Amino acid sequence: EAKRAGRAQHVIFDDKMHTQVHRRMQIENELRDAIGTDQFSLHYQPIVSLVTGEITAVEALLRWQHPKFGSISPAEFIPIAHESDMILHLGKWVLSTGCQQCADWRKTLGSVAPRQININLARKQFEDPNLPEDILCVLQETGLPADYLQLEVTEESFAMNVYEAARTMKSIRKSGVTLAIDDFGSGTASFAALNQFTVDVLKVDRSLICNIDDSTGEAALLHGLVVMARNLGMKLVAEGVETFEQLKALQELGCELIQGYYFARPMSVENLECFLRTNLGLQACTTGAMELAD
Ligand code: C2E
Ligand code: MG
Ligand code: MG
Ligand code: MG
Repeated sequence: EAKRAGRAQHVIFDDKMHTQVHRRMQIENELRDAIGTDQFSLHYQPIVSLVTGEITAVEALLRWQHPKFGSISPAEFIPIAHESDMILHLGKWVLSTGCQQCADWRKTLGSVAPRQININLARKQFEDPNLPEDILCVLQETGLPADYLQLEVTEESFAMNVYEAARTMKSIRKSGVTLAIDDFGSGTASFAALNQFTVDVLKVDRSLICNIDDSTGEAALLHGLVVMARNLGMKLVAEGVETFEQLKALQELGCELIQGYYFARPMSVENLECFLRTNLGLQACTTGAMELAD
């Protein structure tokens, strides 16, 4: 009986693995065909200041709409693109499309145009020796001023070769482009990294924000991070803020910048433009801030 159950389990496990492997292969193949087509687009999520109520930046987030499979999450396809090096092509497309968009907004949106675009860099992009030159090229082609561009890298990008990473960061920052560490606090290299590199912004991982209103120590930790960032001359962005309670807690901790569903979800170009023009979200947030000030 037990033996049979064990065997059945084994079969189920195999089936599941087979399905996963199949899906992975399918995505890899479909990715190859999709690059260069209009299946990809960028959505943009605002980052907002709790002090001024202003949108200080938008983060570009890659979206893939497959004609048959529908929308596929970057959390699923980015790792696959990374493993097969297709991320280098995709990443270049994201960089030039995002910069072009931001440059266009400067012309079409006037005073409500985003003042900064944040673009995610995968580890292999960051390790690509051509990266600093590619960035300069894109800025030149699009006419976007360097200080409008912020690149987000995760800790894994500089875990392997500290010396090379420091050099890359230095050369990127020399051009006036700023750097953020993304998902800060989710990895293990956090504190070592801070000592080795100069970065402009820490984006604190959602996992630290989502428990902030329980009494589980996240608030104390975050308070420490806020003080540390200030002393190191860095800005801090809280990622994944979903509730008013979280926003309130962050404001009390002195965290100025937030990004999350509470303020705005990632939006298509059209929706973001509408959002920026009507300023609805801004008013909602300012109302929140005024409530807090009482
Ligand atoms: P990320 O760079 O940390 O981006 C933030 C992710 O959190 C986005 O997921 C965003 O939609 C989501 N998010 C924002 N606010 C909230 C919130 O309040 N609650 C929750 N639950 N989630 C929130 P998305 O768009 O699915 O992207 C996932 C990850 O995929 C990104 O995490 C990034 O690591 C990667 N990614 C996305 N676009 C690109 C890209 O163009 N290049 C590279 N290399 N990676 C990308
Ligand atoms: Mg990011
Ligand atoms: Mg993040
Ligand atoms: Mg993330």
